[in-house]
Amino acid sequence: MILAVLKEKAGENRVSLVPEVIKQLVQQKVEVWVEPGAGAAAFYTDEAYQEAGAQLRSRGDILQQADLLLSIRPPDQEDWQLTRKGRIWMGIYQPLYNPALMQQWAARELTVFSLDTIPRTTRAQSMDVLSSQANIAGYKAVLLAAYTYSRYFPMFMTAAGSIPPAKVLILGAGVAGLQAIATARRLGAVVEVFDTRPAVKEEVMSLGARFVEVEGAADASKAGGYAVEQSADYQQKQEAKIAESAAKADIVITTAQIPGKPAPILISAAMIENMRKGSVIIDLAAATGGNTSVTKNGATVVHNGVTIIGNSDLAGEAPADASKLYARNVLNFLKLIINKDGNIELNFNDDLVKGTCITHQGAIVNERVKQLQPAAVS
Ligand code: NAD
Repeated sequence: MILAVLKEKAGENRVSLVPEVIKQLVQQKVEVWVEPGAGAAAFYTDEAYQEAGAQLRSRGDILQQADLLLSIRPPDQEDWQLTRKGRIWMGIYQPLYNPALMQQWAARELTVFSLDTIPRTTRAQSMDVLSSQANIAGYKAVLLAAYTYSRYFPMFMTAAGSIPPAKVLILGAGVAGLQAIATARRLGAVVEVFDTRPAVKEEVMSLGARFVEVEGAADASKAGGYAVEQSADYQQKQEAKIAESAAKADIVITTAQIPGKPAPILISAAMIENMRKGSVIIDLAAATGGNTSVTKNGATVVHNGVTIIGNSDLAGEAPADASKLYARNVLNFLKLIINKDGNIELNFNDDLVKGTCITHQGAIVNERVKQLQPAAVS
């Protein structure tokens, strides 16, 4: 079986596999091809890939001959159209937001695995790309905020006077939010946190932050660890409390997402207008619409003296480590679908294989994607 790593498009610095992981695949009798320059933006050289046992092959060769193709971002149409029926693509393809593309891949009879849909179970933790990447994004969000902010983060008592610590408000205490809390605390900030899942309260407090409770959240216990949409009544209560916290905050990091849905708007323009000039908002939910009403995905907006950075790709700002962790996630998942002879063997009785496979044998097979558009995908 030939497994191949493609060079990502401009703007994506990560790479699907790093040399240390390739060594392990080669030992498992997998033939690994790498497109020249695939790891360059993440500081992994072609020579390092070759030393690990990979062959450098052109993009054309890879698209036409590889059995399993790895690209973090969805491939362009001209690329996937070159791959033959039955070939496997694996990456982060956000199928819940791209059902039409999934239809096209199904019609082309490609087998597509989207690692962002892996079930959130204990066994899947080592393969959870959303976690490994969100962790980095949360960390980078705080550093970006600190760099952009017009004042200090830590408290300082100097001969020239005292500086109070920065007040950081974090909306959403999932993987990115928790890492943002830890990083902001390490930099000496005072941190307040909102989340619709009361279960995270203890984790938030153990990181030294204050958890602001809003009563009446919808039960998310059956949503596999994810958030669900909230009632209008809850949203109103939450809005009032967030407005109070935002008015005091110097930095806001927003991470609130609901899989398959637009991100909830938690910060209005009016709330931003009540913030101190020179404050900063980093919106990690920008790609799914953003958590503020003024966020622009991939852009920086200044509203009434407050800088709002809409960036859901911050993991790519630490491409060497982001790739290393992503590659280990991929390796752990590949172990489920590659047998001892180095060939593909798909076991759809395995809930992780089933939950991650989006299209197979000409159909959309993923239950969550099917539920999204029952009429279109039946
Ligand atoms: P996410 O990126 O989907 O969302 C980020 C956070 O925003 C979540 O905590 C969510 O509750 C919160 N949120 C959503 N709507 C909100 C609103 N209106 N107001 C405030 N907060 C809101 O979440 P995630 O980081 O991917 O993680 C979600 C959960 O899954 C976490 O509990 C995490 O520990 C768990 N998880 C489990 C595994 C596993 O067991 N394999 C792996 C990763 C994550």
